[in-house]
Amino acid sequence: MEVKILSEKFEIENANLLKVAKEHGAYSTLDKLFSMEPVDVTEEVKKAGLRGRGGAGFPAGVKWGFLPKDTGKPTYLAVNSDESEPATFKDRYILVRDPHMLIEGIIICCWAIGCHDVYIYIRGEYTTQVKVLQAAIDEAYAAGYLGEKVAGQDFRIDVTVHRGAGAYVCGEETALLESIEGKKGQPRSKPPFPAVEGLYGCPTIINNVQTIASLPFIMTNGAEAYSVYGTEKSAGTHLFGISGHVEKPGMYELPLGLPLLEVLEKVAGGVWKGRKLKGVIPGGSSTPVLTAEEAKTVTLDYESMAEHGTMFGSGGIVVLDETVDVVKLVQNLIHFYHHESCGQCTPCREGLGWMKKIIGKLLEGEGTMADIELLRELCDNIEMKTVCVLSAACTMPVRSYLDKFRHEFEAYAKDRVNSAPANVELQRN
Ligand code: SF4
Repeated sequence: MEVKILSEKFEIENANLLKVAKEHGAYSTLDKLFSMEPVDVTEEVKKAGLRGRGGAGFPAGVKWGFLPKDTGKPTYLAVNSDESEPATFKDRYILVRDPHMLIEGIIICCWAIGCHDVYIYIRGEYTTQVKVLQAAIDEAYAAGYLGEKVAGQDFRIDVTVHRGAGAYVCGEETALLESIEGKKGQPRSKPPFPAVEGLYGCPTIINNVQTIASLPFIMTNGAEAYSVYGTEKSAGTHLFGISGHVEKPGMYELPLGLPLLEVLEKVAGGVWKGRKLKGVIPGGSSTPVLTAEEAKTVTLDYESMAEHGTMFGSGGIVVLDETVDVVKLVQNLIHFYHHESCGQCTPCREGLGWMKKIIGKLLEGEGTMADIELLRELCDNIEMKTVCVLSAACTMPVRSYLDKFRHEFEAYAKDRVNSAPANVELQRN
């Protein structure tokens, strides 16, 4: 089931070094690239059906097409490496194991959108990733793949690695831009969208690491070779980080569209210790949970996830076995999002704090049935009433747990005691 497009060099020793990466094909597509018109590169990416891999799934080529023409301002590219969604760990593999694939993708994108200045925004805590990436960038400059004349062409690209201070909300595109500009990383109201008014008020494309890293394959092999993988609307492959209660947690590259349960069985070795499946978080902690029953029919693509009332998200799949105490899980979730709220919107800052108190009350045996209703009402009243979607990233999944596992919340409220299932044991990390 696994496919090696993005992960082709992941197991090759020292593939982060230019010499080794080149031996395995890195930068081999640049002659072809510079023989093409930028607009044709964008068309090829559109034809490939590549959708943004950061979570929203917006078609990459279409996004590039939103850039206004002839503004007289520079165009910027910001590569989003602020991978902070709990359960998501795919981009850091690319940064460490094949950084030249990302740099080659940056060159392709820059040619297509007419960009000369690139910022790679990376979480400050990712010290290894920063070190490896910067070393690869330095090597690319020395070899003439970056700098004044990229691959001998009259085309300049400068790449700056910008380290964030470790705030989840800085993965939101406008907060990321604020942070690069040296301000507090708080989301901006949209519109204007970054493609029109982004970094320093200039047209800016923001793409996730995996999105950009997918470009060398598309350029080398053509759009059709890419779109043979996946489904009609969800083309290509994706790096899935599978964690939680499975026998073989890890990072796997798979074509989109495969049945979730088959992947869990055949790729991730099935539910841990042969236990029963309770649910699946399909795409990082912000995506609504699927029950074991729903997981039977869902496939790993954007459309199927939407049909099942959830989202594809980041591809960070978390498996929950029968021992999971959903109420405690929700406590963790709310705690995280409340902690990461930037505080500029009252519904997010105060509402998530209020939710945190209610769930704490339930867990301490002090909650009532009215508290469960209140939790639900708060979700409805917070969502879509804030500047960015961080609040919805908390309330959407919480609502799904309340709807699908309501009896567990009620057990806490009715019994007024810790009502975790008897077989709960400490979860492994
Ligand atoms: S929703 Fe939360 S994180 Fe987003 S801007 Fe408002 S306060 Fe900040």
